Amino acid sequence: MSARIIDGKQVAKEMREELKVKVATLKEQGIVPGLAVILVGEDPASKSYVSAKEKACEEIGIFSDDNRLPADVTQEELMAIVEAKNNDPKINGILVQLPLPSHLNESEVLLAIDPDKDVDGFHPINVGKMVVGEKAFLPCTPHGVVQLLARSGVEIEGAHVVVVGRSNIVGKPVANMLLQKKENANATVTLCHTRTKDMAHFTKQADIIIAAAGRPNTVTADMVKDGVVVIDVGVNRVEDATKKRGYRLVGDVDFDAVKEKASLITPVPGGVGPMTITMLLFNTVESAENTLETVNN
Ligand code: NAP
Repeated sequence: MSARIIDGKQVAKEMREELKVKVATLKEQGIVPGLAVILVGEDPASKSYVSAKEKACEEIGIFSDDNRLPADVTQEELMAIVEAKNNDPKINGILVQLPLPSHLNESEVLLAIDPDKDVDGFHPINVGKMVVGEKAFLPCTPHGVVQLLARSGVEIEGAHVVVVGRSNIVGKPVANMLLQKKENANATVTLCHTRTKDMAHFTKQADIIIAAAGRPNTVTADMVKDGVVVIDVGVNRVEDATKKRGYRLVGDVDFDAVKEKASLITPVPGGVGPMTITMLLFNTVESAENTLETVNN
């Protein structure tokens, strides 16, 4: 059996069409959702992520407020900008592109973002709400993973999900989301990491595997059962002399071999990646809708 490929670009496109409709409805009520993007310095990868986020905003009608700061900006100056965005009613979401230069205190900056505008879902208030099952902004990549599963018709309830990786931005939140007593959750979750003894023992039992280790071939065909659903979050560069840029991108899963046993699998690139920015747009629109609820109540 060869797996059906989950097309992340297509799912992302469908979600962005839905968001466009929501933005149009908000505009009829006088609200233009606004996302403030704060970029410090000239890191090429960060610049390209920020440009992609701004372009995605414009495509669905979100106002993108571009704040590019020099690499030597002081902590005080940066905190003042965050504070100004917290108090600006045109701004519904604030995104500080990470990593920040080393002279800046990243956690102090993230803590300063108003939790009601924390569309990255990294503020401890939102993390705490997520864990106890309250409404919160969910972090974008893990939420994208859940949407990919749900929109591909995967039965999450009752499934045994094995998550490989326990980072604060992917592994821990996706595990938390899937174990909630909620729709698109109710799974039995096992979380593996580098200290897990005999990881294959767990992955072989999995109905769904979510790989977020940041290492190629972490999940190989001998580690999975027939019919498994595989979501590969990993993005790794491997040398490839046949490519002009000298490398290609691969996930954490041995895609070619695992797809012969899986029922569904995401490719890298083109799987989880396109969902991350989509979920940022989703949170920004939700934040704008929340202001409407506040006005109406
Ligand atoms: P991270 O902070 O480096 O965390 C990696 C986690 O994987 C750690 O918990 C680590 O365990 C675990 N791990 C590493 N090697 C392992 C192995 N051989 N067996 C079992 N566990 C292992 O990485 P991250 O930020 O979560 O990102 C993970 C991957 O997802 C990266 O490739 C990243 O580029 C990608 N990513 C993609 C997107 C997207 O939009 N597509 C977004 C975010 C991240 P320990 O805790 O024990 O060290």
